[in-house]
Amino acid sequence: MLKTENIQTIVKNKHQYFLLKETQNIEFRQQKLRQLKQIIIEQENEIVEALHKDLGKCHFESYLSELRIIKKEIENSINNLKKWTKPRYVSTPIEQFPGTAFIQVQPKGVVLIISPWNYPFSLAILPLIGAIAAGNCAIIKPSELSPNTSKILEEIINNNFEESYIKVIQGGKDTSQQLLKESWDHIFFTGSPSIGKIVMEAAAKQLIPVTLELGGKSPCIVDNNINVKETAKRIVWGKFLNAGQSCIAPDYLLINRQIKSQLLEAIVQSIKEFYGEDPAQSPDYGRIINQYHFNRLCALLSPGKILIGGKVIPEENYISPTVIHKIEPDFPIMEDEIFGPILPILEYDKLEEAIAFINKRPKPLAIYLFSNNQKQQKMILENTSSGGVGINDTVMQYGVLTLPFGGIGKSGMGSYHGKASFDTFSHYKSVLKRSFWLETNLRFPPYKGKLKWIKRLLG
Ligand code: NAD
Repeated sequence: MLKTENIQTIVKNKHQYFLLKETQNIEFRQQKLRQLKQIIIEQENEIVEALHKDLGKCHFESYLSELRIIKKEIENSINNLKKWTKPRYVSTPIEQFPGTAFIQVQPKGVVLIISPWNYPFSLAILPLIGAIAAGNCAIIKPSELSPNTSKILEEIINNNFEESYIKVIQGGKDTSQQLLKESWDHIFFTGSPSIGKIVMEAAAKQLIPVTLELGGKSPCIVDNNINVKETAKRIVWGKFLNAGQSCIAPDYLLINRQIKSQLLEAIVQSIKEFYGEDPAQSPDYGRIINQYHFNRLCALLSPGKILIGGKVIPEENYISPTVIHKIEPDFPIMEDEIFGPILPILEYDKLEEAIAFINKRPKPLAIYLFSNNQKQQKMILENTSSGGVGINDTVMQYGVLTLPFGGIGKSGMGSYHGKASFDTFSHYKSVLKRSFWLETNLRFPPYKGKLKWIKRLLG
């Protein structure tokens, strides 16, 4: 762990470096983004190996869910940077004549990024791309629970970029808390709601703005107007990707009773098709990050009736893709975010019941609805509140760079991806520029006799 004085010096140097204004130059930002992309392309194998060591992730999943989205995000930022950074002129009211008003986009300054272990590479680099694009200096504090990926992150950033510009500082809770005592222009945190509160409390002490990308229980509603086979495939993929350790994985299913047996049969079939009879042997199925989370998840395997799965290998932190039905809303599995490969099933008769069930709980990061019925789609969109919504698919909304990604209420605040990342790390400064000619003196004291003129001329 770095000594407090060292952290203080690093942060102080960053503030000084930021004042040199080098990062404000658009070509500089584009060049750093290009450099970052190039290094990541060159180190793909090392990154994939680290992700495999930490989470048992296969190359395909690592590429699709971590590396590809980074490449797309960098390309999108480079291509749009000139447009995004242009001052935006706005109309000015008559009383300001002659004058112009515009919004000038400026970097916030020096930012702190704290990231989690579940997509340990992309969840550190994606916010960094926004920070670089917007012209900031940054420190990343990656998760101590994914040490192999944190190490490669440290090598990639610290061996290729100036320390006073961007830097990775490794460490756990104590390092994180030391960093939170420093002065930042923005804190971007991805992680659990409980640590999110600690981060926000620390930020509040210095009035530092925060983005909190948190988690929660994202429900998936399945009604009967669907293609059963495709629905099953899309749910199984979204749930068991990264062994269920995705913040927007469908946490639990709410199924229309009429379609339950048909859908469950198709889900079981999809699990077998994707991962074989013994998923422990599948090269495409991941592992739980550590023993603590393995034990936490094992405790959720009962009560309820296991339809498929429930097999565990403690030495490997392996839990097979598991579906449990006969779940009651007050079972422990329905309390907190599951964040693992266990899918509880609840049933409903009318969509209104499913909506009421969701609305009684904290606002989720995502709500999924499988239904081709437009009225039902409208009902969900209008009567529920969540960070985002996926209709007839799961998780895929994450990859749409034109959609801001973030939560609401307990699932987070603020958003990022694409232009939203740039906005998060930028300050939109309002500027009014007046000219010296033409002054009516109407607004200056003494006011005697002027009110009627103000009313007549300006309303
Ligand atoms: P976490 O909150 O335990 O840890 C996140 C980061 O906070 C880590 O870097 C960790 O070192 C640091 N930290 C831990 N304890 C701390 C403390 N007491 N003070 C200050 N910093 C501390 O989260 P996690 O277990 O790494 O990740 C899982 C959670 O993240 C889940 O809830 C998941 O839903 C959420 N998540 C959200 C998103 C999103 O984009 N919204 C993405 C991935 C994960």
